Amino acid sequence: MRSIAILLALAAAAAPLAPVATAQTPAPPTVIRAARMLDVVAGRMVANATVVVENGRISAVNPATMPRNAKVVDLGDVTLLPGFIDLHTHLSSEISAGAFTRAVTNTLADEALGAAANGIKTVMAGFTTVRDFGGDATVALGHAVERGTLVGPRVVPARESIGITGGHCDVTGFAPGVREQLPEDGIGDGPWSVVRAVRYQIKHGAQVIKICATAGVLSLEGPVGAQQLADEELQAIVAEASRHGVRVAAHAHGNAGIKAAVRAGVTTIEHGSELDDEAIALMKQRGTYLVPTTYLVDRINLAVLPPLVRSKAEQILPIARESLRKAIAAGVKVAFGTDAGVYPHGENAREFALYVKFGMTPLAALRAGTVVATEALGRTDRGAIEAGKLADLVAVPGDPLQDITATERPSWVMLGGRVVKGAEPR
Ligand SMILES: [Zn+2]
Repeated sequence: MRSIAILLALAAAAAPLAPVATAQTPAPPTVIRAARMLDVVAGRMVANATVVVENGRISAVNPATMPRNAKVVDLGDVTLLPGFIDLHTHLSSEISAGAFTRAVTNTLADEALGAAANGIKTVMAGFTTVRDFGGDATVALGHAVERGTLVGPRVVPARESIGITGGHCDVTGFAPGVREQLPEDGIGDGPWSVVRAVRYQIKHGAQVIKICATAGVLSLEGPVGAQQLADEELQAIVAEASRHGVRVAAHAHGNAGIKAAVRAGVTTIEHGSELDDEAIALMKQRGTYLVPTTYLVDRINLAVLPPLVRSKAEQILPIARESLRKAIAAGVKVAFGTDAGVYPHGENAREFALYVKFGMTPLAALRAGTVVATEALGRTDRGAIEAGKLADLVAVPGDPLQDITATERPSWVMLGGRVVKGAEPR
């Protein structure tokens, strides 16, 4: 202890002598001009937008006077939007014919390099934040993006997803002894076991806890809708996570598991495939968000799936679309999420048009992928074009309120004040 104290004292004494040349010279402000800008908070389109960015954040929107010495980029006939947010991605993997043996063939290095490549595709598609369920690889990707050493979306990671032995979050389909999972890997049985799992994920970088409340499609276990985590386990997980100020995202297909997870206090229901009127009423009452992940229904490649998995997909996916339609009509809060990795990374924005197809206005769909997703994350620093927010911005051609598929063709993306796609300020 004494030697540490001496070192600290020496460091403090030396500090005034540290060369100022190590401090970063502040970059000049950036002025972004666009024909339109969507104010997702007020819900209105603003013509002739000027956004000023300084030190990675938006410093002014349509100010009366422009900063001097600014660099300017004029994007022309585009709509400037807050960077999109996908609340359900798996950046460290992508489904393929080998997907069901990946657990015993892939290394962490494979996952990390995959995450880096998929992160580039994702941010180029206009997604500047993801909530990712991809193990250590995407915890590390988030660090690299924040440091500026890799181009990718900001990551709100869950590390490993938490569920029961033999359940959807476990590694299934192999002989006993092959990749048995521990609470550290997310697998636990009983309240204290899953509490250990929660604590371990948070210790190693989780900013959200992802759980498997019910069985799932892409795993080799039983009925797709069955509740898996018991009520006592769900309550223990949510209580432990909330002691850390961390929210819980619950993968849930079947009715019983959805309701149990909502009653336990999870923040988001992922998929929510079998919503009955009681589940919808409960979600509205508790303010629980639905994260639909509906684009994958069109895109999932059933041909590469084992027969059991394929039959589960064919059973649940059409029901899920009816549930989404009902949830939108009933006014359940819907936050954007796609399950990227179950379909090819980079196609995330296709989800927007489907929200419109199933009953949202284009404005509501765009809010789901910006300001509503930010609320579901429990953040206030992004999701809108306002002074003080992170300068995470995307430009799409034309007017996405007239043609929501414009979101699929971003021409320009900025992450924290740095252009990652399209024209540089000059
Ligand atoms: Zn998923």
